[in-house]
Amino acid sequence: MNQIPINQTIEELVAFLSTPQKIIITMHRDPDADALGSSLGWASYLIRKGHAVTVISPTEYAANLNWLPGMENVLVYEKAADQRNCKRKIDEATLICCLDFSALSRLKDLGKVVQDAKATKMLIDHHLEPEYFAKWMIWDTYAAATAQLVYSLIKTIEVGLQTVEIFDRSLAECLYAGIMTDTGSFRHANVTPEVHLAVADLMLTGFDTSRVHRLIYDSAPLSRLQFLGYVLSQKLTVIPEYRTAYMVLTEAELIKFNSSTGETEGIVNYGLQVENVVMCALFIERKGEVKISFRSVGSFSVRDLASSHFSGGGHKNASGGRSDLTVTETLDKFLSVLPSYQQALLSVD
Ligand code: 5GP
Ligand code: MN
Repeated sequence: MNQIPINQTIEELVAFLSTPQKIIITMHRDPDADALGSSLGWASYLIRKGHAVTVISPTEYAANLNWLPGMENVLVYEKAADQRNCKRKIDEATLICCLDFSALSRLKDLGKVVQDAKATKMLIDHHLEPEYFAKWMIWDTYAAATAQLVYSLIKTIEVGLQTVEIFDRSLAECLYAGIMTDTGSFRHANVTPEVHLAVADLMLTGFDTSRVHRLIYDSAPLSRLQFLGYVLSQKLTVIPEYRTAYMVLTEAELIKFNSSTGETEGIVNYGLQVENVVMCALFIERKGEVKISFRSVGSFSVRDLASSHFSGGGHKNASGGRSDLTVTETLDKFLSVLPSYQQALLSVD
């Protein structure tokens, strides 16, 4: 089973956390609602326990996550104004928690700083094939979201206490945001009874689930919808013989639509709404590299494709990768490997 049980390390972790620590929490670059929600939820819990906690994002994040409770204190390593402070905090830290990623390369330039830091490291993640750089690993590829793992971890540490004694509304909102988005609003194949039970439990704190949906999904600037309209009408291509859809976005187009990090988030999923399509790829030319997002349904693993050809990884049905080729060359490479996946693509139920 792709799981390292929480109990294996829990006593040691609890003992470590019984005295005040200086803790850094970080998450993957271009963090999504699970990366930031799980980090802020874990931070909120640790702060209540008397620890000094700093949350550091490797890069900027999407504007629709700004409302997450605790976001006002998040440092961004890539920002010149924050970097020195980040380095100092990491230098002083006694514990570094790495959430929602399991390869240090996912931290961009922050990866080496974390790797070289003397602090004890802890990982909480649900991606496949972790790197083993952390002393404590709470790693479960069956968990729908890292936020769900944070929920279970806190429940395990605080065994015997009622939910409302442990979680407040803000903490619950952060974890809910992560679980909601990583399950595609509770519709992906990763939704288990445990997901609904965790959410039901978090709802006992009394936060407004509908508000969280609205803040994340229905608060886009007009430009994002106009950009989406352009992409769907002009850039979405379907190759029926491979049941594949793809979109290519050049840097010039992103500049034209004034599209910042995060505004392309979620666009790849639209390709899967086309009938009979089981895989969609989105190629984005940004800052001298091509970032690729892959999504699939059912048995087809985009993770294998991403790791075999595009230095990437992730989950079976949601993965990503990158390329140093030009965007046209990257697309050509993708199209050239498709025939070797044809059988697998055609056999998806
Ligand atoms: P997204 O398409 O939303 O950027 O990423 C989807 C999934 O793929 C996420 O779970 C993310 O962690 C993973 N992923 C995205 N880019 C990369 C990458 O460059 N390397 C690896 N190993 N995983 C990635
Ligand atoms: Mn996640």
